[in-house]
Amino acid sequence: MSDLGATLSRHGIRLDKSFGQHLLVDPSALRKIVDLAEIKPGERVLEIGPGAGNLTLALCAAGAHVEAVELDRRWDGVLSERLAGQDVTLTWGDALKADLPPADKLVANLPYNVAGPILGRVLPMSLHLYVFALQLEVAERAVAQVGDPRHGSLSLFIAYYGRAQLALRIPPGAFLPPPKVRSAIVRIRPHSAAPVDVAVDRLFPVIRTAFTHRRKTIANALGVRPELIRAAGVDPLLRPQMLSLHDFAALVRAGVY
Ligand code: SAH
Repeated sequence: MSDLGATLSRHGIRLDKSFGQHLLVDPSALRKIVDLAEIKPGERVLEIGPGAGNLTLALCAAGAHVEAVELDRRWDGVLSERLAGQDVTLTWGDALKADLPPADKLVANLPYNVAGPILGRVLPMSLHLYVFALQLEVAERAVAQVGDPRHGSLSLFIAYYGRAQLALRIPPGAFLPPPKVRSAIVRIRPHSAAPVDVAVDRLFPVIRTAFTHRRKTIANALGVRPELIRAAGVDPLLRPQMLSLHDFAALVRAGVY
């Protein structure tokens, strides 16, 4: 870590919080993330936000070919130096806008401030596995099950694409500088087939509306007559957090919303 500190200061880098720059430096956390990713030699791994390249190097050591996408060009010198001779392709650009390179898996310590929109882009890519760090509270919302007060648009969006697991908690001290928030690693194993036969862009308008009014009953939240909800096979008195992806799909299929 002190070596890394020296490298950063030699390149005149000061970490920028507005880019979510908290580098994962703890070797045991890095190793566990790579283990969770079940890397096979030669696999192409998409890493968004390599920063100084710590996770990148750990992925390379496991035999991955890393496709890294980084927004902040100030990392150029550090990355050229640290990744010399490694099997890495680096693309400069904003992961929210740039074309993302094809890959088998995503492994990343994502910039937390844009983690949601980035998931919105990478989950539809249907990679084989996703392993990424998130703020703990966001990770808990990501993996929440039906009935949990944290169940909502995020857990439903993720459930559409795969099975999510909160695999590991990571203490603030594993990062440089330590963030104010706690962190966790979420792993998503994509479904082999979509769990419902309603397209994602037809499902999410109703889901978003329902959870804007999460304390109301589903009928009131959607402003729909209870009989119509019941006719779709859903109890109109339930709060949105009690509804599964299948329930929302039933509402859309019945033309309720
Ligand atoms: N993965 C590294 C760094 C994590 S910090 C590590 O674990 O050490 C988050 C990184 O994401 C920073 O390097 C930041 O510059 C980069 N970043 C932030 N927003 C981004 C965006 N929209 N697209 C690509 N990279 C981004």
